[in-house]
Amino acid sequence: MELPTPYPALMAQERIPDLMDKVVSLCKRRGFIFQSAEIYGGFRSTYDYGPLGVEMLRHVKDAWWREVVQMRHDVVGIDAAILSSPRIWQASGHLANFTDPLVDCRSCKERWRADHIGDHCPKCGSTDLTSARAFNLMFETHVGPVSDASSAAYLRPETAQGMFINFANVLQTSRKAPPFGIAQIGKSFRNEITPGNFVFRTREFEQMEMEFFVPPDQADHWHEHWISERHRWYVGLGMKEENLRLRPHDKDELSHYSTATTDVEYLFPWGWGELEGIANRTDFDLRAHAKASGEKLEYFDQASGARYYPYVIEPAAGATRAMMAFLIDAYDEDSIGGEQRTVLRLHPRLAPYSVAVLPLSKKEPLPALAKEVLSLIQPYFVCDYDETQSIGRRYRRQDEIGTPYVVTVDFESIDDRRVTIRERDTTQQDRIPIDSLAKELTARLSG
Ligand code: ATP
Repeated sequence: MELPTPYPALMAQERIPDLMDKVVSLCKRRGFIFQSAEIYGGFRSTYDYGPLGVEMLRHVKDAWWREVVQMRHDVVGIDAAILSSPRIWQASGHLANFTDPLVDCRSCKERWRADHIGDHCPKCGSTDLTSARAFNLMFETHVGPVSDASSAAYLRPETAQGMFINFANVLQTSRKAPPFGIAQIGKSFRNEITPGNFVFRTREFEQMEMEFFVPPDQADHWHEHWISERHRWYVGLGMKEENLRLRPHDKDELSHYSTATTDVEYLFPWGWGELEGIANRTDFDLRAHAKASGEKLEYFDQASGARYYPYVIEPAAGATRAMMAFLIDAYDEDSIGGEQRTVLRLHPRLAPYSVAVLPLSKKEPLPALAKEVLSLIQPYFVCDYDETQSIGRRYRRQDEIGTPYVVTVDFESIDDRRVTIRERDTTQQDRIPIDSLAKELTARLSG
């Protein structure tokens, strides 16, 4: 695996040796993440999510949606089009400003993001670099059968603009008033100069973004609020606090629309990297779209008679990047009874499966009883069922994919209608009546 070093000045703390390689290999071996188009030799930093990856990614997004939208009275969701009017990107400033500084190495011809390298090429070490030029990250395509300038359109490089262009629609239909937010989860596309570090930086990725519209004089208060809420979300889902930090941006690294941004950063095996940025986007976007479209995008406060453009506080996170950070953070190796094992200590809400049901043997009537047990708990939990190989190997597989509980059906279960629950982290086992299994698992998984 190729690992460019985007943050050369910062060294990762000592962790499990070769942690990154181990996580990447586990992802492939167990069916979390595959290189896309692998049978054709792969396709430049694109990835496909396998049976376990799709469950986990969904859980990351569900945990975000639950916290940011459904558990609040002041945030609603939308799902906007990926392909839309190019006028959006004209007005938002992305056509002019959504660029990264590109430099070429004259010696080995490799291309780099100037702000990610020092004064020499990370590949060949040469200092013979071109001067930086602005490279627009948006993917251009053409809508309709004729490919000319008038049919040009762009794949969205962020989901945020969907919220701004629908601000008036949502305001009219949702009975919300500032302070309130509009959230969206979806794919974004950026023609990154140097994608890499597995799914940390890809050209197609998923974002979880929320635009929180506030009276301008409350912007600082809500900025602080969302910085601490978002930090809390990662910690609440089990990410180790010592691997997280908040980093306010220097003035010269702020995006064209932001007056203040604080990143939630994670200590990746190669150094600190951004998980999420919480920006004060001011009234930049609403004003820009009002001007370009001729529509009124102000808020009229009937109580005070005031008319104003709300300021916007934006927590913008990557779903795919967060999933990778959760995987890295959860990866562990320990020894149980003298035997080495790999275990993903994922928070139960994020694990691909909450429960696995394993009959001790493939001999009937064990599989029949195990499937009965499965059907009792399947309505409540995402479950795996596995009857092949020795029980020890099946436990190790479940540990390695992070399943918090394994329920084993053995020969005694036929007579006493009891099964064994095995806990992933401690490997402690308890025998529970089948009738109370769903209740017991609910208590443990929500505890
Ligand atoms: P960077 O400076 O690393 O390019 P950014 O500051 O441009 O990132 P934002 O525009 O703030 O990123 O995007 C919000 C979030 O979306 C990021 O924190 C990250 O989690 C995710 N994200 C952005 N670009 C990518 C990408 N190419 N691949 C995966 N996730 C990404």
